[in-house]
Amino acid sequence: MPTFLECQRCAACCRWPGWVRVSPEEIARIAAFLGLGEREFIARHTRLRPDRQGLALLEKPNGECEFLDGRDCRIQPVKPQQCRDFPNVWRFPGFEQFCRAVPRELPPEEWRRRIREATGRDLAPPTETQSEAAGSEAGPSASSTGPAGLDFPTRSRRNDV
Ligand code: SF4
Repeated sequence: MPTFLECQRCAACCRWPGWVRVSPEEIARIAAFLGLGEREFIARHTRLRPDRQGLALLEKPNGECEFLDGRDCRIQPVKPQQCRDFPNVWRFPGFEQFCRAVPRELPPEEWRRRIREATGRDLAPPTETQSEAAGSEAGPSASSTGPAGLDFPTRSRRNDV
């Protein structure tokens, strides 16, 4: 059965330094949520990514996300897809040492429903072979590739660019 990683809301992933990419659509949504104009949001809360292919959220001097408030995300209802996708769609080898998400083996339809709820994506459950391959590489629930074969970069803890 496919494994769903159930987030425990410890906020550890929001404390890792890295690049949280924001698309133009996400910028518009977050700016509206904060009551800011898009230009103002970009000036106050984003930085150019190292590949110069787009923008990422600013972080605090200690490396945690600028929008982390205690253990809460200040933009939770509109947070970037990259944040929603971790750890079920992308993750990095050894992520279990830092992330407290609990692996749950679920029937395929339930897995699909939980993935949709967590990420907004409608993904096909991984096949037995894909699950086994992920397990033998890096533990029972780790893989550098998303469950539906989506290939995400995993060079840093926050999906570096
Ligand atoms: S995804 Fe993992 S590290 Fe992030 S809040 Fe959930 S349990 Fe914690």
